[in-house]
Amino acid sequence: MPERTPLVGGNWKMNTNLAGASELARQVGEGAAAHEGVEVAIFPPFPYLIASGESLAEARSRVRLGAQDLWTEPDGAFTGEVSTAMLRDCGAEIVLTGHSERRHVIGEDDDRVGAKTRAALEAGLTCVLCIGETLEERDAAQTDAVNVRQARAGLDGVSKAQMERVVIAYEPVWAIGTGKTATPDDAQDAHAKIRALIEDLHDADVAQAIRIIYGGSMKPANAVELLAQPDIDGGLIGGAALKAEDFIAIVAAAGA
Ligand code: PEP
Repeated sequence: MPERTPLVGGNWKMNTNLAGASELARQVGEGAAAHEGVEVAIFPPFPYLIASGESLAEARSRVRLGAQDLWTEPDGAFTGEVSTAMLRDCGAEIVLTGHSERRHVIGEDDDRVGAKTRAALEAGLTCVLCIGETLEERDAAQTDAVNVRQARAGLDGVSKAQMERVVIAYEPVWAIGTGKTATPDDAQDAHAKIRALIEDLHDADVAQAIRIIYGGSMKPANAVELLAQPDIDGGLIGGAALKAEDFIAIVAAAGA
């Protein structure tokens, strides 16, 4: 069975300012240096990508710079949108697709998420495809069905070779930013089922190699137990990523 390098990503959402983002990136870059066995990424707001990348470079950090979103077309009349080439120009190597706030606040559907995932991969970026059920769906025992539907649509047309640059983030919507967390057993169960789906879509090698990370109110106090589960390969962190100390404590837990 291949060793999967854990990935911990910090999704800063629409937070920070120019000075704060630069400083947070510097602190994360410095703090992550002690945890070489963990791949670390930050996802600052678009306007702060370049400054955050400069901070990481100054800290001689191997933390990867990521973006929170992308647009599918290479250029043209798409007011307000940002292309994959623009992201790469700014130093981003990794991007989120299908984050629950894009799905449920902005209104992106499965097809849009799939198109964005394909565009990210075609541009050579690593893509963190986020999936997960709402509270209503969970209460209706639809967790697995939603994960299967979103993963299938999100990975539609993605080749086996491209799967090497895919990470799946299982993020139950009811746990994001709410302080509620899936139990380690529930999260493990969802992750194992997602891995089984990847085996159906591709094969056992792809399924064993892919990183499936958990997101939803992960913090230093619950990270150790969640990250100890065999199919949880890291975390996508929102609130706790805004404080370098907390974020690095989660990185440390992933490397333990
Ligand atoms: C997220 O934004 O992906 C997330 C998991 O947020 P939080 O950690 O705040 O729940």
